[in-house]
Amino acid sequence: MKRLVLSTLLSLVIAGTAGAATPGIDPSYSQLLQRIVEINTETRNVAGLAQARDVLVPKFEALGLTASRHALAESGREVLRFDTPDGRPKVLLVGHLDTVFPKAGSFQHFVDDGDRLMGPGVIDMKGGLVLMLNVLAQLKAAGQLQHVRVLINDDEEIGSPYSKKTLQAFAKDVPYGLVFEPGLEDGAVVSSQSGVRWIKLTSTGKAAHAGLEPENGIDACLDLARKIAKISALAQPAKGLTLNPGVIEGGSKPNVVCDKASVTFDVRFRSLADWERVHAAIDAISKQSDVYNDRLKLGARTEIVQLAELPPLPVERTAALAARAEAVARALGQPFRAQAVGYGSDGNNLSDTGMQLLVGVGPYGGGMHSDKEHMLKSAYQARLTLLTQLLHNLTQSEGEMP
Ligand SMILES: [Zn+2]
Repeated sequence: MKRLVLSTLLSLVIAGTAGAATPGIDPSYSQLLQRIVEINTETRNVAGLAQARDVLVPKFEALGLTASRHALAESGREVLRFDTPDGRPKVLLVGHLDTVFPKAGSFQHFVDDGDRLMGPGVIDMKGGLVLMLNVLAQLKAAGQLQHVRVLINDDEEIGSPYSKKTLQAFAKDVPYGLVFEPGLEDGAVVSSQSGVRWIKLTSTGKAAHAGLEPENGIDACLDLARKIAKISALAQPAKGLTLNPGVIEGGSKPNVVCDKASVTFDVRFRSLADWERVHAAIDAISKQSDVYNDRLKLGARTEIVQLAELPPLPVERTAALAARAEAVARALGQPFRAQAVGYGSDGNNLSDTGMQLLVGVGPYGGGMHSDKEHMLKSAYQARLTLLTQLLHNLTQSEGEMP
């Protein structure tokens, strides 16, 4: 059954691209990509995000999808939702419109250079949004656009604090989710993503003149430095458990015993059990004074605050879709690889919904989040074929729900 369906649409996909001089991206889609890449949509640029949404919404509506806009707690933020009229979504296509590139930065333009398209967000993930439209248009042309829901948020690059709950609510009861983040540089998709916590520890001591009466001080900087060394030693990089003391602040002047110091750790882990173990260890470390003043009978005190949280996306949540995608890729003669990564996406935020997910299905290239960000046109074409076929299989097959 699956094989029959595959060969039917496959001929359609091939017919659609036959005659093109080089495999690549259709000019109407590269023009749309240029248009949205050149609208700055750094996460805080709410006006730019609104402008880009206004370009995209009619494109999805033109495919016959019903658009709805869901306002979020921060003024000007929205989740866009597009549904096929059948009202029974089987596959969720997830994308974000925000980028990491500031409005004042120098990297704002789109450049078409051989096999490369360059620009801010060209793969992360405006190229993914254009690919999404392109895939849906192919399915529509074949009369097979159904059972699809699209969600596009505008705060992914800061961990989706405003949109997370809305995404989860609209993902409920949808069995499959494709997250259009860029593929890895060799085209691999993402098999699992680490969970993330940002933990801030603040040590408080007692200030004193460093030359006149150091014996009356309690050095919070030293206390914290010792704790940083202990906490960093909890890392087990081989199993994806890392602890990065990325930001340190402390003290006021060289000649004053430091009375306050803080560190923010970025902790990454592949299993919640690892996080719980490390969290308990950090708690225990923070409860001890690593600098103690015997004379004052007082030691430094440490408080912990959690600043950010992203659950892990474990491999069990991606295995089924990865297997489906691999079968399609092989039938198309495309290589297929899935790899664990340490960074996060909305795939992490959707991992608790019970849906089967695949992340990193978007077009790829290199230089993500830098002024070298680029998309390979040939990679776009391969993804278009793969996703059109995969989406076809997932939406048309009956009785094959996970
Ligand atoms: Zn992204």
